[in-house]
Amino acid sequence: MARVTIDSLRKEYDVGRVVAVEDLDLEIDDGEFVTVVGPSGCGKTTTLRMLAGLETPTNGRIEIGGRDVTDVHAKNRDVAMVFQNYALYPHKTVFENMEFGLRMSTDMSEAERERRVVETAEMMDIDDLLEDEPDELSGGQKQRVALGRAIVREPDVFLFDEPLSNLDAKLRTSMRAEIQRLQEELDITAVYVTHDQEEAMTMEDKIVILKDGKLQQVGHPNTVYDEPANRFVGGFIGSPSMNFVRVTVRRPDDRLVLTDDEGFRYPLSLEYSRELPVEEGDTVVAGIRPEHVEPTDGGRGIETTVRVVEPVGSDNYLYLDLGDDVDEFMARVDADFEPEPEDRIGIAFDEKDLRLFDDETGESLL
Ligand code: ATP
Repeated sequence: MARVTIDSLRKEYDVGRVVAVEDLDLEIDDGEFVTVVGPSGCGKTTTLRMLAGLETPTNGRIEIGGRDVTDVHAKNRDVAMVFQNYALYPHKTVFENMEFGLRMSTDMSEAERERRVVETAEMMDIDDLLEDEPDELSGGQKQRVALGRAIVREPDVFLFDEPLSNLDAKLRTSMRAEIQRLQEELDITAVYVTHDQEEAMTMEDKIVILKDGKLQQVGHPNTVYDEPANRFVGGFIGSPSMNFVRVTVRRPDDRLVLTDDEGFRYPLSLEYSRELPVEEGDTVVAGIRPEHVEPTDGGRGIETTVRVVEPVGSDNYLYLDLGDDVDEFMARVDADFEPEPEDRIGIAFDEKDLRLFDDETGESLL
């Protein structure tokens, strides 16, 4: 059993001038696949390296399978890490690369080592490459060897540091599916780091979003997409990005209306008006995803001017002008809706798709 518990984990560099990871708490269940995602510099790699034992935490605690491993050396942790640059030994054959970890960390017999390497190579479909050296292999093959080398050790936990970044898009998709299949089949706890939110969204079971070393949200990809905990998550997850409009809350009667000075006007239902923790005059940030914006019949709803129409296959992206206060507002519409630049169109969206964030803290209001 390899449940991973991360408790108030902190890493500072340069005598505290850089806080790479700030008091992170995280529970990863046995056999769970967790994807850690966030922009460059958010602390993903540092977190992974602390799990691997390659970096010493400034503070906090890491447990793997109920054992406190915070001060345990990397080679005694039973974790295997797969790196972006494969990190294969260039002058060893594939067989030797895969066998090396077994030779170093166990007193397994030579026959048993060979049996394990061959069996894993067959599973990874690299058994015909065992006598080759890394520079004779393609990027995809090297990554399979790096994966095989991790699997052969039968670790408690797999750690993946952007393992697919060096592969082309098509290979990345198939390798990603394969990693998930292997992880499920072998039932090993896995932590997978990527900066690519689109990649993270395709991963089960849950994703962990970091920014500036701080945890932003943990949840299933669908949950963080539908119910972002804050404005950062709303904007970071999803492509094209969520639109944001700063609006003022008005209460002309029992119902609230969100408005700005430039023609944005959105009345909320009675039910929503009652639930929202806001008052007349408050400023809030409305978030709405491009795919939830619909053009209206006869120009009703919020009036906008079309700036640019960008065809992307089955859809068109419309860049809309909502006045000087809104930087960019995008709608993703069916390809058969083709307005011209400068056309005035009305847009609308369902209240259930509207997210509202506190203007100062960025936290979700509902
Ligand atoms: P990327 O996607 O660019 O790899 P990341 O999310 O993995 O970024 P980390 O590499 O964990 O981020 O870095 C987090 C922060 O810690 C950054 O500000 C980085 O500059 C800093 N940092 C990382 N390693 C060191 C180090 N050895 N010395 C000083 N600062 C460091």
